[in-house]
Amino acid sequence: MNSPVKKNQDITLEIIDLSYEGLGVAKLDHYPIFVDDALPGEKVIAHIVKVGKKFAFAKAIQHLTVSSNRVDLKDRQLTQTGIAPLQHLSYAAQLQFKTQQVIQALKKAGLSQVKVADTIGMNPTVGYRNKAQVPVRRGKDGLDIGFFRKNSHQFIPMDDFYIQDPAIDRALIVVRDILRQFGVSAYDETKHEGVMRHIMIRRGYHSHEMMVVLVTRKKKLFKAQQIAQAIMAALPEVVSVVQNINDQRTNVILGKEETLLAGRPYIEDEMLQHQFYISAPSFYQVNTAQAEAMYQYAIHHTQLNPDTIAIDAYCGIGTITLSVAPFVKHIYGVEIVPEAIHDAKKNARLNHLDNATFVAGKAEEVMKEWQQKGIQADVVFVDPPRKGLASDFTQTLIETQPKQISYISCNPATFARDAALLTQGGYTLSIVQPFDMFPQTTHIELVAIFERNEVL
Ligand code: SAH
Repeated sequence: MNSPVKKNQDITLEIIDLSYEGLGVAKLDHYPIFVDDALPGEKVIAHIVKVGKKFAFAKAIQHLTVSSNRVDLKDRQLTQTGIAPLQHLSYAAQLQFKTQQVIQALKKAGLSQVKVADTIGMNPTVGYRNKAQVPVRRGKDGLDIGFFRKNSHQFIPMDDFYIQDPAIDRALIVVRDILRQFGVSAYDETKHEGVMRHIMIRRGYHSHEMMVVLVTRKKKLFKAQQIAQAIMAALPEVVSVVQNINDQRTNVILGKEETLLAGRPYIEDEMLQHQFYISAPSFYQVNTAQAEAMYQYAIHHTQLNPDTIAIDAYCGIGTITLSVAPFVKHIYGVEIVPEAIHDAKKNARLNHLDNATFVAGKAEEVMKEWQQKGIQADVVFVDPPRKGLASDFTQTLIETQPKQISYISCNPATFARDAALLTQGGYTLSIVQPFDMFPQTTHIELVAIFERNEVL
């Protein structure tokens, strides 16, 4: 099909939908145009920026009509960088958008009969992230922190990241200024030169303990100890300064090698009244308050009793495992990152829980081993990364025949795919409850409960 629009053309469009990335969708005949800063129901004059065979991209330059769901933009850069692509949509409409995305994903997977509950939102809707990972590049006053423009290498210096804990934003500026004082050079990705690639900061939501991770291209960081001491002195909440070395040409932020520069190699935080040690490479939910609400929900909607055997697959540092442990006879956790399992085992001791077993490995392989050992789980919790469950994991899960499966998902598309397999494998999807863990963004998180069908 020939494209009905040309690059740099200005055209009036009616927006009929919002894409999963938060772009307004208009159609000319059947040709979709994705429009930045445009909401369903709006009529806009759009400037065409990119034309492809199957669709085009545009940006709204004038709004002829304005949606009642529109709120003021805080800063256009927050959309351009992908930090807050839904910032122009009222929060109530953001929640509806997310519920709809889940309904659509289930429909595509042939599960249109499943009822999806309204997305549970949160307050406040900004400043909720307990973790920042910001790239460092050269600026006019020495190194700068910022973000990249979406789908581009263009660096935009920033100092207000809007959805991050404001204490983290303030700390980022302090760390940036210390690195400037020490004359540390910024990474240059085209030449693969320079030193500082990223600054990562984690701050415990309840504990307020902070970890600063300096991600460098090579091991040599001139005056590393003094830099770390200066950071600890300037930021009293910092209990850990870590150098992470990433010498690869890659978008992956953390490298494999790590050195402790000051303090201890972990922070401590609390979730559902349990204490957790969290080290740099371990996964930790970025929105603690909503994650607690979500885990509470998952625990409440599963039948746990002192005889229950449970499994927590994709367990990270054991946040779900140890929250469930007090209610069951035994729980098994599996996780691929060895450091996270190291944390999980320490966390079990920290909370005086001795009925949890943790194994480092691939969930799909360890699940099979457990099956072969005859471990018969009554309830299985799964919380996989975006790509969802490995298909052999799903197969073993179905063969294990737990009475209930609680699936926590951060990607409705792979969730719906897996839900269809579990449904075919003898399960009924009884609850789908989305939680808004990432306000202002298009990310969606949900808890689902599957019940094993009675065998007649
Ligand atoms: N339930 C935990 C972690 C969820 S994130 C929490 O809420 O904190 C998903 C986790 O799955 C990550 O820790 C990631 O390292 C792990 N993971 C990814 N692929 C895996 C695999 N194939 N097998 C086991 N764990 C995996």
